[in-house]
Amino acid sequence: MREALAGRRFIDVNSTMSGGGVAEMLRRLQRYSRGAGLDARWFTLRGDRAFFALTKQLHHLLHGVDGCGPPLDRVGGAHYAAVCEANARALRGVVRPGDVVTLHDPQAAGLVPYLRRVGARVVWRCHVGTDEANLYTDRAWAFLRPWLETADAYVFSREQFVPGWLAGRRVAVIRPSIDPLSAKNRPLAPSAAAAILSRVGLRAPVDREGPAVYRRGDGSVGRVRRDPTCLCSASPPPADAPLIVQVSRWDPLKDMAGVLTSFAEAGGSLDGTHLALVGPDVGGVTDDPEGGRVFAECAALWRRLPDGVRMRAHLACLPMADTEENAVIVNALQRSAAVVTQKSLAEGFGLTVTEAMWKGRPVVASAVGGIRDQIEHGVHGILLEDPRDSVSFAAQTGTLVGDRCFAGVLGAGARRRVRENFLDDRQLLQQTVLYRNVAGV
Ligand code: UDP
Repeated sequence: MREALAGRRFIDVNSTMSGGGVAEMLRRLQRYSRGAGLDARWFTLRGDRAFFALTKQLHHLLHGVDGCGPPLDRVGGAHYAAVCEANARALRGVVRPGDVVTLHDPQAAGLVPYLRRVGARVVWRCHVGTDEANLYTDRAWAFLRPWLETADAYVFSREQFVPGWLAGRRVAVIRPSIDPLSAKNRPLAPSAAAAILSRVGLRAPVDREGPAVYRRGDGSVGRVRRDPTCLCSASPPPADAPLIVQVSRWDPLKDMAGVLTSFAEAGGSLDGTHLALVGPDVGGVTDDPEGGRVFAECAALWRRLPDGVRMRAHLACLPMADTEENAVIVNALQRSAAVVTQKSLAEGFGLTVTEAMWKGRPVVASAVGGIRDQIEHGVHGILLEDPRDSVSFAAQTGTLVGDRCFAGVLGAGARRRVRENFLDDRQLLQQTVLYRNVAGV
């Protein structure tokens, strides 16, 4: 590929440097591309609150739900156009004719016409979607389609997400993937994981605990230093308590509140277990204006829980200042979990599911969007047909906590599934084919 595409730049444009699956993948895929000798660059677009409120509404609509965000009217459209134009201007010195630019998600869709005009080959990659089109998805496409018409290719995470109006165009389905060598997924000894969790208040310390250290990407030794920016926890979970973990952005579609409610109402099946709901610092994800509100709602719910349940539920916002430190905390949590959940109401793909599966954890997840592509029910994890069914969510989670043998079988199946399908080498090869097609070489 280096020979075929020599002299071109490969530029990814998205809307945040950290927090969320797209930033997570770009950081690594960019490094692999640069390591292979390509001129790969990453540009993060700038926008104001009104812009990100509008694009978050588009994100919800593409998932087939109304996010109750601002209307996609003439005023909103004009503001979207102005922000995209300003970002296109900032890119003007970087993009040259023949370069391949991948624009990610609704935030960057508005750059297509500007970049086509300077002679770039433009790919629009959509990481969200829903299997069934409805009036909300129609509304999103009516807004986005005029911007997207002239793109050279379109990428989706799932066939079912491709809208009908793209029939006959160049469309690729590329499923996301994870890097087993990253701080998020690298092996971590149980003692190191325990030390890291007790450092951030999510595990009670034990006697003769080691230091909360880990190996950084550059080979140096890192030490977890930062505290969660918010922590709702009466006291840390005991070291021997089975831990149920969900790691997600504070987004209504991840249904953290639903997990908490289900846990509170579970009764006997989850007795003795502890729940950790963990997400990024709500100020740390620049393109997600809902984080603060969703976390505040979960915290209010937590405060109202009966004492006996509140003692066993823990909410944490992890600092985002150091992405490797953040990643290793997530790694420690996922590895220490008895069960990992992902009770999403909609999901583009769900890298958190892949990450947990790679670590051999039993997963209970909603049968929505890309999660369906990852888990075959009863083989690689447990799929919940109705994501709002909190009774069976708690029951299935309780079954896995109680039946460690079955949990182990699912965990082993999950790890195998990820090794065969969802590691970065597969995605990089697909990306290579796409780049060559788009560049016409
Ligand atoms: N994530 C993280 N720190 C956090 C919360 C989430 O690194 O505090 C990561 C998580 O491990 C995963 C990504 O953010 O890699 C979320 O991707 P996913 O596809 O699950 O959902 P998205 O946020 O893109 O909707």
